[in-house]
Amino acid sequence: MNNSIIRGRVLTFKRMPNSNFDTESYTYIEDGALFIENGIISKLGSFKEVKATISEKITIYDHRPLLIVPGFIDTHLHFPQIQIIGSYAANLLEWLNTYTYIEEQKYKEPLHGEFMAKEFFNTLINYGTTTAAAFCTIHPESVEAFFTESHRRNMLMIGGKVMMDQNAPIKLLDTPKSGYDDTKMLINKWHGVGRQYYAISPRFAVTSTPLQLEMSQTLVNEHPDCYLQTHLSENKDELALVKKLYPDYKDYTGIYEHYNLLGSRSLFGHCIHLSNREVAVMSETKSVAVFCPTSNLFLGSGLFDLQHLSKQKHPVRVATATDIGGGTNCSMLKTMDEAYKVLQLQGQRLSPIESFYQITLGNACALSLENKIGTLAIESDADITILNSRATPLMKIRMQTVKSLAEELFILQTMGDDRSIAQVYIKGKPSKKTSLA
Ligand SMILES: [Zn+2]
Repeated sequence: MNNSIIRGRVLTFKRMPNSNFDTESYTYIEDGALFIENGIISKLGSFKEVKATISEKITIYDHRPLLIVPGFIDTHLHFPQIQIIGSYAANLLEWLNTYTYIEEQKYKEPLHGEFMAKEFFNTLINYGTTTAAAFCTIHPESVEAFFTESHRRNMLMIGGKVMMDQNAPIKLLDTPKSGYDDTKMLINKWHGVGRQYYAISPRFAVTSTPLQLEMSQTLVNEHPDCYLQTHLSENKDELALVKKLYPDYKDYTGIYEHYNLLGSRSLFGHCIHLSNREVAVMSETKSVAVFCPTSNLFLGSGLFDLQHLSKQKHPVRVATATDIGGGTNCSMLKTMDEAYKVLQLQGQRLSPIESFYQITLGNACALSLENKIGTLAIESDADITILNSRATPLMKIRMQTVKSLAEELFILQTMGDDRSIAQVYIKGKPSKKTSLA
């Protein structure tokens, strides 16, 4: 039996907050505790209450005065791209051709994938991220490496083999048939094994022929409980290229719509330049638009218009993500820092209460996993991140003037990074190493 108590200031959300002052949207307990039984949260309350119900001798992880929050969730990133973060390029297409497509070729080699998978999951944990939806490369070996390591660590992960059959170097192309066969084999092998979920992953319309999109549709029809992940409307040059490749469609979203790839388990990275029609169809189909602020700024792709997508009568479901390696930071705190700035530039506000909702329960809802992760509610998986708001000398000084929880969260979002992640629990097991060497 691996039972324990985690003690500290507990913060968990119940629903989406309406504003910075919506105290009903979350539970906050100053001297709180979680009782973890076999990786599941079985009690949540004040330390005194929780302790009083347990007679057995038990391990207590005392994190006072730090904050206990659900592990962060990153809904879009690329496993093979952690070694090309911060590669100098003018825009998306130059960045893909100059760095990404070279780097991804290395993952044909199983040993390289296995080594990098260890580094990848160490990195996620180091930054407080306990679940991610990741693209691998076109090589099934890369997916094997990804899921083998994730499963070994008992992490809840979503991943998939990229499908590309045009407009990329020949060594990175599959065919509609091999993409279908490999995906099918990987779904059968990994989807639903332990905490692993498969995402059918045509990279984007630029790199898939109509026949490959048709095969993706078949895969989605045959495996409706898998996810689908791809990219949509990121960059102006990409839009022009898509128009050239698919001239007969109303718009970019219309292509995915035609192949029935929209839906409640479909994640679309970026969604920056969507028309009103595209927003309406995304909303109707309950598709998820994934906001990747550090990537959008780095590649000069544009500003994600949250108001256009979510603050209207029929909102689009929105998630947030790092988009590593187009994104420049693995931290979901930094991601929300940049999201805040992207919205500021458009005269839109995002409160820290909403930000912390988003990277926990909000992203879990976008993945339809809110009954398992993104929350510290009883019966959920004990994937937990411990936050230190005084992790650096400057944060320590700054915290002396902070008077409310919302102010503290905003400091964490604005000034925090991996140094603010004091510990991470994966299914109740302490998992962050102080040194990753
Ligand atoms: Zn991406």
